[in-house]
Amino acid sequence: MSPTATTPLGRRIARRIALHGPITVAEYMAQVLTDSAEGYYMTGDPFGRSGDFTTAPEISQMFGELFGLWCTEIWHRMGKPAHFHFVELGPGRGTMMADMLRAAQVVPGFLESAAIHLIEVSPALRKCQADRLAAFRPTWHNELAGVPDGPVILVANEFVDALPIRQLTRAEAGWCERIVVAEPGDSLAFALAPPSSAAENLVPPGLRDAEPGQMIEVSPAAHSLVGDIAGRVSRDGGAAILIDFGPAESRTGESLQAVRRHAAHDVLTEPGTADLTAHVDFASLAQTARGAGAAVYGPITQGRFLRRLGLDVRAEALLKQATEAQAREIDAARRRLCDSEEMGTLFKVLALADPALGPLDDLETHG
Ligand code: SAH
Repeated sequence: MSPTATTPLGRRIARRIALHGPITVAEYMAQVLTDSAEGYYMTGDPFGRSGDFTTAPEISQMFGELFGLWCTEIWHRMGKPAHFHFVELGPGRGTMMADMLRAAQVVPGFLESAAIHLIEVSPALRKCQADRLAAFRPTWHNELAGVPDGPVILVANEFVDALPIRQLTRAEAGWCERIVVAEPGDSLAFALAPPSSAAENLVPPGLRDAEPGQMIEVSPAAHSLVGDIAGRVSRDGGAAILIDFGPAESRTGESLQAVRRHAAHDVLTEPGTADLTAHVDFASLAQTARGAGAAVYGPITQGRFLRRLGLDVRAEALLKQATEAQAREIDAARRRLCDSEEMGTLFKVLALADPALGPLDDLETHG
């Protein structure tokens, strides 16, 4: 294999491995994305056409507006508490929160009751959020644990896919964890640790009989987060909605990918210069949430959910006042958010709620 091109962060990772031994894919992902000095999210703004990727709230204001109205419905169901925490995980440029709050202001009392909490590691993105949301006086935290107890409405769009995953491969002799090793010249390569029961124990029981050669991915960080959210909503009241990409059913196969300037990039090359993501395993997260006491709805596809929330009605309303160019944009956004070959099917919506809120019909999978 030819040596991978590296970066100062890559050289630090190679030295760490030389000193302390190989690291798991999760440890690699965590350092590449959130290393305090040189992590991908710590060094710039990854968004936009000239950036690395675009997300649904950046495609259309309708996305955040519809989720904002969904949040007001949850607040009603909660009995309109006079104080609640309105939390966003990984708010990016603050666009979705701004759109949600603009739409939610039509509901008297909602904004006055909401204390805005933003969970964000990136200094550059915190600055964008501060500019965008100054009027709402948000509070920032590095982790959900920083948000005080109390009723909560939480949203997270494309956050869970950035949480570190571990990769396990079925070999003839058993399950092996995939690790990152350092090679001469400080380049990095994947290798397999010897089979172990520790590795096997990470594999969901239903997938342990996979054929040799199969890989599975698990995200202990995502399970711990979802367990925490589910515990909060079932204890203190409220609901959370997670929007992300991944299959509805757990499956084998590798999904870890690097993206730079809207194109695929090698995961181990020039670490810190490309985003790293993996598909979200909605079915197993749903199980964790139920185990922690939450009622779980979905996952359903983003396209179906947005249509149920009234995307078409909202688009028609916007089209009435639109110029021809704006009308083309609105139609293009609707297709991008909802069509199967775009984001409509790969992206799923999963909600975790206090069982006392009663059924959330928008998220029922049937019908
Ligand atoms: N929700 C936004 C941004 C998605 S990108 C949108 O839809 O446009 C992921 C976001 O999560 C970024 O804001 C990134 O800085 C933040 N982030 C990634 N990993 C994080 C972590 N471990 N802790 C806190 N924030 C994180």
